Amino acid sequence: MPAAHILIAGGGIAGLASALALARRRHRIDLFEQAVAFGEVGAGIQLGPNVTRRLQSLGVWEPLVRIAARPESLVVRSATGGREIARLQLGNAMLRSYGSPYLCVHRADLHALLLAAVRGSGAVTLNTGARVDQAVARAGAVCVSSTDSRAWEGDALIGADGLWSAVRSRVIEDSPPPRATGHTAWRALIEQSALPAALRSTQITVWLGPRLHAVAYPVRRGDALNVVVLAEAAPAGDARDWDQASSLAALQTAVGRTCASLQALLEAMPSWGAWTLSDRAPLTGPEQMASERVALAGDAAHPMLPYLAQGAGMAIEDAVALADALDGGDSEAVPAALARYAAARWERNAQVQARARRNGEIFHATGLVRMGRDAALRLFGARLLDQPWLYGA
Ligand SMILES: Cc1cc2nc3c(=O)[nH]c(=O)nc-3n(C[C@H](O)[C@H](O)[C@H](O)COP(=O)(O)OP(=O)(O)OC[C@H]3O[C@@H](n4cnc5c(N)ncnc54)[C@H](O)[C@@H]3O)c2cc1C
Repeated sequence: MPAAHILIAGGGIAGLASALALARRRHRIDLFEQAVAFGEVGAGIQLGPNVTRRLQSLGVWEPLVRIAARPESLVVRSATGGREIARLQLGNAMLRSYGSPYLCVHRADLHALLLAAVRGSGAVTLNTGARVDQAVARAGAVCVSSTDSRAWEGDALIGADGLWSAVRSRVIEDSPPPRATGHTAWRALIEQSALPAALRSTQITVWLGPRLHAVAYPVRRGDALNVVVLAEAAPAGDARDWDQASSLAALQTAVGRTCASLQALLEAMPSWGAWTLSDRAPLTGPEQMASERVALAGDAAHPMLPYLAQGAGMAIEDAVALADALDGGDSEAVPAALARYAAARWERNAQVQARARRNGEIFHATGLVRMGRDAALRLFGARLLDQPWLYGA
């Protein structure tokens, strides 16, 4: 489709990755971000081989390698006893199995990398302070307007406006609000040089405990360590605020005391932010991802619990699939192209959403289920931790 004019609501990872993928196919793009300046909060993001492969295809391999850490292994431990339960080799093993590495990055670094690539494309107009609040279909076009009364018209609108998407209602009538899960993520980041040697790490460590788990992994080429603790605690605050100030005391109230090594790591963190987790039920059909000239991407379409570490990954997969679907044809072909995009993406997104929920139940298991999980992990560790259906696609 030569030089279609595509409107994108949202300048997070889904919006920027979509803009980049579409710009590389020579489309003209207007992107709208409600914030007055681009920026990203949060801490680490794990990128499986399925995601790093797609980032390579978007032409950002070199800058990605400059910001990423490449963990050698994933180690699962008990959050109460501290002992190792299972291990999966990542490093060269992932490269051999899936042709692309497993990387860990800081969310702000990935966002900045995508933004730089979008700016460099010369095909994207970035409109900041533009909160999209209405989208109207016209004959052969779609019009959007922002809360400050500006308006634009294009061939297609991509709703990449996150969990609380305004565009979503253009695709799905009567969509209920996201589900409050009652789970909270506490996040912290520290320079590895500020940690005692015993707490520094070059691997991904996951500690599993009753109704909680914690994850630590290196980011920024290994210079910093990202720590996340996920617990089934009462919502810590405003579910729309990704960066609620919190404290070690609030975290300890939710999770109690953990094994000595995890406890020492938690106490070493300079500060804690909290993130109240919401999700939606897995998608049930392609009609939930596109309708006529409007499509959804990323969390706007399929928000999920972070228990498979693939929310941003699926947003990047969406972006590549969107550009593939919109390649060739003309403006008349946009609705069919978006229907192809939805058909190509909904089942995989639904599968990842469902597996993320299931992982939460397994990670946080108690009693006999917990004992069975640990026994299975000890016996079949690497086989259970590897995800060929996910990483290989
Ligand atoms: C604790 C935690 C850990 C995670 N770890 C991982 C991980 O390891 N790997 C992974 O792949 N994923 C992970 N995720 C998931 C990942 O963070 C999200 O899936 C991803 O950031 C979603 O990106 P998005 O662009 O769809 O949405 P968002 O990041 O929410 O971006 C939406 C953008 O749209 C803007 N916007 C909103 N409304 C409007 C509007 N009306 N008009 C204009 N602009 C608007 C917002 O300001 C924002 O910039 C994790 C999530 C959590 C909570």
